[in-house]
Amino acid sequence: AKEEGRNRFHYFTPEMEAVAQQRRRLLNELREALDLQQFEVYYQPILDLQNGRVVKAEALLRWNHPRGQVSPLDFIPLAEETGLIVDIGNWVFAEVVRQLTIWQARFNTELQVSVNTSPVQYQDDNSSKPNWFGHVLTHNGAANLCVEITESLLMEAGRGVADKLLQFRDQGIEVALDDFGTGYSSLAYLKQFHIDYLKIDQSFVSHLTSGSQDLVLCEAIIVMAHTLDIKVIAEGVETPEQKQMLLDIGCDFGQGYLFGRPVPANEFSARWLESQVI
Ligand code: C2E
Ligand code: CA
Ligand code: CA
Ligand code: CA
Repeated sequence: AKEEGRNRFHYFTPEMEAVAQQRRRLLNELREALDLQQFEVYYQPILDLQNGRVVKAEALLRWNHPRGQVSPLDFIPLAEETGLIVDIGNWVFAEVVRQLTIWQARFNTELQVSVNTSPVQYQDDNSSKPNWFGHVLTHNGAANLCVEITESLLMEAGRGVADKLLQFRDQGIEVALDDFGTGYSSLAYLKQFHIDYLKIDQSFVSHLTSGSQDLVLCEAIIVMAHTLDIKVIAEGVETPEQKQMLLDIGCDFGQGYLFGRPVPANEFSARWLESQVI
């Protein structure tokens, strides 16, 4: 028994202990972050590639932690595992609707803002809470929203998901399929669910060179999407060459550092809304 005991703990190294401890601490801090108003929504422009106008923006969540900003890549998975993403997601929606209403009044803009959502937010056991769907659906009067969903949501989708996507449609909220090409989406999903946009993942866009396989792939995706009446947004556009190639193969919209990084709301409006009437 003593041997067993020793074996059992054999694998738990001090390093692992440190990781576990760090995770616990981050989790405790994440639980408080909403109350402490440490979250902020950044906005990144999405351009119509044909005319260069900023017609959309993606809302990207930031956690302004006292020790420095924490990347969503580090805290979103934790928020998903613990279900905290439901409350956080509600907050993001409320915040985006609030901001968009202000921008619409001030700039008379038709900017559409897309909001990321996690599969957890669609789970039925979360639907008893006052949830963001209800919020969006009751407060959407003046808003111009798009909901970004992941391929994994469609794969795990029960009936509830298809219903919610239809509800969005009824409310004039569009749906974008994020990170396209990284998961297992097939034509079947695209036909089965009502999708307005495909976002080609940046891993394809970053390898775009003339004659490359990724160029052929991207073009095939775009042709296929257009056949299904779906518009295409390229993510992670960083160079003028990538932008030109995307234009050449008929891509509709572009997003990436070439056009602008995600920035706080006031910076976004100063740079993109004050100077142009959409
Ligand atoms: P995503 O939805 O794929 O968002 C695009 C990510 O690519 C963002 O990272 C953005 O800053 C980054 N990006 C944009 N243009 C470029 C570029 O030209 N080059 C490169 N290398 N990167 C670019 P970010 O802001 O760190 O967000 C990471 C991920 O966190 C998002 O990936 C999304 O999955 C998740 N996330 C962010 N905000 C939310 C949220 O409010 N709710 C949920 N559920 N997830 C969120
Ligand atoms: Ca996204
Ligand atoms: Ca993406
Ligand atoms: Ca992603």
